[in-house]
Amino acid sequence: MPSDPLPETGRPGPELLAELARLRDADLPVRGGQVTAYVYDTGREAVHDLAATAFHEMLEVNCLDPTAFPSIVALERRLVGFVAAKLGGGSGVFSSGGTESIMLAVKAARDAHPVEGRPQIVLPTTAHPAFHKAAHYLGLEVVHVPVDAAYRADPAATAAAMTPRTALVVVSAPSYPHGVMDPIPEIASLAASAGVPCHVDACVGGWVLPWLRDAGRDVPPFDLSVPGVTSISCDLHKYGYSPKGASVVLFADEAHRRHAYFASAEWPGYTVINATVQSSKSAGPLGAAWATLNAVGAQGYRDLAENAMKSAERLMSGVAAIPGLRVLGEPVAPLVAVASSDPSLDVFTIADEARRRGWFFQPQLSYQGIPPNLHFTLTGVSDVDALLAALTEATEAARAAGPPDVPSDLVDALADLDLDTLDDAGFAALLASVGVDLAAGGSPEMAVVNTILNGLPPATREALLIRFLSALYT
Ligand SMILES: *Cc1c(COP(=O)(O)O)cnc(C)c1O
Repeated sequence: MPSDPLPETGRPGPELLAELARLRDADLPVRGGQVTAYVYDTGREAVHDLAATAFHEMLEVNCLDPTAFPSIVALERRLVGFVAAKLGGGSGVFSSGGTESIMLAVKAARDAHPVEGRPQIVLPTTAHPAFHKAAHYLGLEVVHVPVDAAYRADPAATAAAMTPRTALVVVSAPSYPHGVMDPIPEIASLAASAGVPCHVDACVGGWVLPWLRDAGRDVPPFDLSVPGVTSISCDLHKYGYSPKGASVVLFADEAHRRHAYFASAEWPGYTVINATVQSSKSAGPLGAAWATLNAVGAQGYRDLAENAMKSAERLMSGVAAIPGLRVLGEPVAPLVAVASSDPSLDVFTIADEARRRGWFFQPQLSYQGIPPNLHFTLTGVSDVDALLAALTEATEAARAAGPPDVPSDLVDALADLDLDTLDDAGFAALLASVGVDLAAGGSPEMAVVNTILNGLPPATREALLIRFLSALYT
C-alpha cells in the first residue's frame, strides 16, 4: 500500500476526522450484536458515551508514576476491590488485557515458586494462547494436556503431567473456544497437594459467571475461594463492557502479587517500579473501566449476564433445529461453538455466507480431534432471532455451494514450502493465487484460506500467519 508522507504543515482537524471515519467504513461494526466476537455492547449508549468521556478525562495521565498521579492509585484500588469482592477476595493488579494479566500471573508463579531446572507450565489444550506467549517470553516450557470428550481439562491427565519442575497449573472458567468449565476444585486441589500454584483463567468468564450465579443459576465454584487457586484473571473489556485495555489479575496471597512486580534501579535515570509489563501508559482505560462498572452497577450486570446467557440458550436450541449443525460441549457461559455434522456442509463457507449478509461468525480451526467450528460470544444486545435467521440462511447457502475447492496438492505444497525463500512480495503473490488480496485489506472470502490452514499442522499455521501479518503491514 503506498503511504503518504507526513504533511509538512498540519492538516485541519475536521479533514482528519473525516478520514478516520472513512477508514473505519471497512471495519466490522462495534455495536449491535452482528459481530459475535471481539466486541461487547451493553446496548446502553449512555454507558459507552460516559466511558468515552472518562477515558478522555484520564487520557494524558501516565500510569508510570503513581506518586505523581495519585488518582490512578485511588481508581485502581476501587476497581480491583469491585472485582475481588466478586471473585473470592485477594489483592490485584489492573492490566491492559487478558494477555498481560496472564503474563503477570505466569511471572509471579515462576518467581514465587522456583524449581530446579527449566520451569514448566501445565496447560489443558483448550487454554488460551496467551499462556504459550507468556511461557515463550518468560522462558517456561509448556506441558500440554489433552482435554476430555466434553472439552474439559482432565484431572488425572493433569496429575500425570506434573513434575518437580511444574511452576504453574492452569484451568479456565470457562475456556474460550467452547465456553465449558474446567473441573477447577479437583485440579486446584491436586496442584495444592503438590505445593504448586494454580491459575484460573477467568478472562472471559470472570465478569459474567458471578452475575449468573447471583441471578440464581448454578455456577460451579471457580474463583479464589476454591482451595488451591492462587491467582485468577478477569477481563473487564469483555463482559465488564469497558473499552479495550482493561483487565484485573488477582492473587490469593499478597506476597505472591509482589512477584508480579518489577523494579530496576540499574541505570542513572528515574527508578523504575512497575506492576505491569507496560511502563508509561495512559490511564484512559482505567478511568473508563471505573466509570463503566459504576454506571452499569450490580443490577445492570445481573441483567446483562442473564440476557446474554438466555441468548446463548436460545441459540443452542435453535442450532439443534438446523439440519447439519451441532453445538460442541456444554457451555456454562454465553460462548457457543457450532460445528457441522455433515461432511458436505462446510462451516468456513457458512461464515463467508453470513459475512455477505452482514454478520461475523468467528471461525475456529480443527485442533487435536476437535472439529472446525464457528464461535459465538453472546452479549447483552444479541438478537437471537435475527442471528438464527442469518445462520439458517447462511447454512442453506453453504450447503448449496458445497465445500470450497482446494487442490490437495496446494496444501501439501504449503506444508513443504520453505517460507524463508519468499520475501513479503512473494508471499503476497502466493496469497493472491488463493484469492486473498492484501491491498484490499484482507478479504471476507476466507473459506479457501481457512480450509487450507485447517489442513496444516499448527506449526505451519503459525509460520504462515506470521508471514501473513508481515505482508499485511509491508
Ligand atoms: C480473551 C481471552 C484471553 C486473552 O485476553 P486479551 O484481552 O485478548 O489479551 C485469555 N483467556 C481467555 C479465556 C480469553 O477469553
